[in-house]
Formats: sequence, structure tokens, C-alpha cells
Amino acid sequence: MTAKILDGKKLADEILPQLKKRVEKLRLAGVVPKIDVILVGDDEASQIYVRKKLRSSESISMRAELHRFPAKAEKEKIIATIRKLNEDDDVHAILVQLPLPGHLEEQQILDKISPEKDVDGLTTRSLGRLVSGHAVFEPCTPKGIMKLFESENIRLEGKNAVVIGRSNIVGKPAALMLMNRNATVTICHSKTRNLAEHARGGDILIAAVGMPNFVKADFVKDGAIVIDVGTNRVNGKVVGDVDFGKVKAKAGYITPVPGGVGPLTVAMVLENTIISAERRLQK
Ligand code: NAP
Repeated sequence: MTAKILDGKKLADEILPQLKKRVEKLRLAGVVPKIDVILVGDDEASQIYVRKKLRSSESISMRAELHRFPAKAEKEKIIATIRKLNEDDDVHAILVQLPLPGHLEEQQILDKISPEKDVDGLTTRSLGRLVSGHAVFEPCTPKGIMKLFESENIRLEGKNAVVIGRSNIVGKPAALMLMNRNATVTICHSKTRNLAEHARGGDILIAAVGMPNFVKADFVKDGAIVIDVGTNRVNGKVVGDVDFGKVKAKAGYITPVPGGVGPLTVAMVLENTIISAERRLQK
């Protein structure tokens, strides 16, 4: 078997013109969706991600503003900016690019974002709403993964899904969103025993670990749907968490890296910002 490639770049390219139409409609009603991004420090990967989000926003005629802080920035200054943005009716989305430098406590800073503008779904309140099945915004990376399933008419109900990784930004929300869609979910992490055995039980296998070639062919059930969230830099190249060449020969579907989950994450940041602006207009 050779897996069908789930082309996230192509799907994102189909989604963006639809989003642009929604932006135009909002503009006619007097609202221009705006996202404000907070970037602390000089982490190279973070700068690349932020640039992509800003450029993509502008490509669909949204407004975007970057707020840069030095690596040693005091938390009070960052929080003061978040408070100002919370109060600003022209701002529909506030995004704090992670990771933050070690002296800043991430959750403490994220929790200052108003849930109505928390398009990444990372505040404690947003995560709680997701757990209860009433998300304000579904977090962008897992939401992009759900779009991939929808685009291929992959039904989730009753499927066994295995998620490797339990971060607040990918693993946990992905698991919750699969469960909310009636999949049976197993979550694996660094303390999981017999991980390969758990993974082989997955009709769907999502890898969000951050280790190149972590998922080998013997982790994968024949015909499984394999979603590779990993974004690892190896000798200047971006690779995922999955041993793509070997796993492709066994899986039914597989996402490439780059060009799989990444472009959809960016598209979902834009979609959530538009949803926020649409909600504001309805108010
Ligand atoms: P993270 O916060 O570092 O979490 C990694 C998870 O992997 C943790 O839950 C950890 O377990 C688990 N893990 C680490 N080593 C393991 C092992 N040997 N066996 C089993 N599990 C292990 O990372 P993240 O933010 O979720 O991101 C994961 C990857 O996705 C990274 O490569 C990141 O760059 C990428 N990413 C991509 C996108 C995108 O749009 N494509 C978006 C976000 C992230 P413990 O909890 O036990 O430590």
C-alpha cells in the first residue's frame, strides 16, 4: 500500500479565498478583522511563524500588527500590552507566540488574553470550555487537522485515535476534539509504556512530539491515517516526527512535512480571527 498524501498546502490554498470573501463582507459592514501578535525575543523559528501569520493575514486583506519585545522583557510590560489590546474594539485576535523566554511564566501571561480574542484557545478558560465541549475557539493546529479529515470525508465516529504528545497547544486539544467528535482516544507521552503497541491500535495516529523520525513503520497499523504535526529542523531542513518514507508504504493516508498541518494552522488562525470579528459585528 502507498498512502494517499493529505496535502495541507493545497487545502489551505482553497480555504484562503473563501476567508478573503468573508473579510470583504465584513469590510462592507464596516469591520476589518485585525490580529495582534506578541513576539518576545529572537527565536528564529518563532520569527518565521510570526512572519507567515502576518503575511497570510495581509494576503486576505485583514489587518495585522506585530508587538515586539526583547528577550529580557518584564512580564508587566507584556501584560500591559495585552490589557490594552483587550480593551481595543478594533482588535479581534491576540496571539502570543510561544515559546516565551524561560523567565516568563507562559500560562500566567496567556491567561491575561480575553477569551473572546484568544484565537489560539490557550487561556485556562478557553481550555476549560474545550473540555466541556463548548470551545470559544478551537485551537488552530488541531482545528486544521479536523479540516483535513473533513476534506477527505474521513468519519471520526467510533474510530480509534492515538495522539502522541499532550501539550496544551496540540496534543491535549487534538485528543479532546477527536473525543468531542466521537472517536475513542488514547493519549501517549514520554512516560507511556509500550508506546508502539498503543500506536498500532490507532485507525488514526497523530504525532506531536518534536522528535525527527520518532514514528517508525512498526508503530503504524496497515491503512492508518497518519498526521505528522512535528516541525523539526535537521541540517537546515524541516522534517516531521514520522519516518515518512517507510510509514508511507504502510499507512492509508499521511501528511507531509512541510506542506501538511503547518499551512492549515496558519489558515485556522485567520479563520478564528474572522469568526471573532463576525461575532463582534453580531453584537
Ligand atoms: P511539546 O510541548 O514539547 O510537547 C511534546 C510532547 O511530546 C509532550 O507531551 C511529551 O511528553 C511528548 N514526548 C516527548 N518525548 C517523548 C517520547 N520519547 N515518547 C513519547 N512522547 C514524548 O511540543 P508541542 O508544542 O506539542 O509540539 C510538538 C511538535 O509539533 C513540535 O515539533 C512543534 O514544533 C510542532 N508544532 C507544529 C505545529 C504546526 O502547525 N505544524 C504547531 C505546533 C507545534 P511529556 O508531556 O511526558 O513531556
